[in-house]
Amino acid sequence: MTDAPAAPGDRKRVMLKISGEALMGDQGFGLHPPTVQRIAAEVKRAHDLDYELCLVIGGGNIFRGLSGSAQGMERATADYMGMLATVMNALGMQAALEALGIHTRVISAIPMDQVCEPYIRRRAIRHLEKGRVCIFAAGTGNPYFTTDTAATLRAMEMGCSAIYKGTQVDGVYDKDPRREEGATRFETITYDEVLRRNLKVMDASAIALARDNALPIVVFSLHEAGGFASVLGGVGKFTIVHP
Ligand code: UDP
Repeated sequence: MTDAPAAPGDRKRVMLKISGEALMGDQGFGLHPPTVQRIAAEVKRAHDLDYELCLVIGGGNIFRGLSGSAQGMERATADYMGMLATVMNALGMQAALEALGIHTRVISAIPMDQVCEPYIRRRAIRHLEKGRVCIFAAGTGNPYFTTDTAATLRAMEMGCSAIYKGTQVDGVYDKDPRREEGATRFETITYDEVLRRNLKVMDASAIALARDNALPIVVFSLHEAGGFASVLGGVGKFTIVHP
């Protein structure tokens, strides 16, 4: 098994990206508190290993801009609604992490000072240095983007060694292992190969941004207890997308 990418120098700073749907459990919509608590426990395990943690959570469990615009809503307005949905998810995760005794900050790309901090790069870095988990909300703050791109952008701004993308399956497969027989998992794969085969790792603009900055993407399953902490140590099943 290939080891997960080492952080630059001694610093263990990583980005965890999860989709909003990861928070909804089996209920099909919104936040399912036991599921949020289970994922918070995964984050705590990594935090206990002295990782500096950045988190980006999508909003697809509440609202997606594309579905809104497909139903006749103006796309930019629908996208702003999607970004606001990510703030709700971030606050839900913050509450679950703080219940476990972890200090956190929700940092929004769209200022809403009564609710959370605005995004200021140097301030966010200081939070990480102090061991606070930074949950980046409201995507990039711009319509026509996704939270995959937001996670890639913030990972680079924060100097993360890699993005860990927690998904429903334990890596990148040549076809959907939940729908088709005989799917094969890649141990490693290049960004270009992901784009060429149109594999659903992250959306194309996020993959291209990671590629242009040689930021590794580690795809792993969110369903294994202790999985995130193991994968950070290079143990278990995962796929590394790399240059
Ligand atoms: N969004 C946006 N700009 C961003 C990030 C997100 O407009 O920089 C909107 C977009 O409408 C998107 C929604 O927020 O559909 C929720 O994000 P995403 O679809 O990435 O969530 P996920 O699929 O990861 O749950």
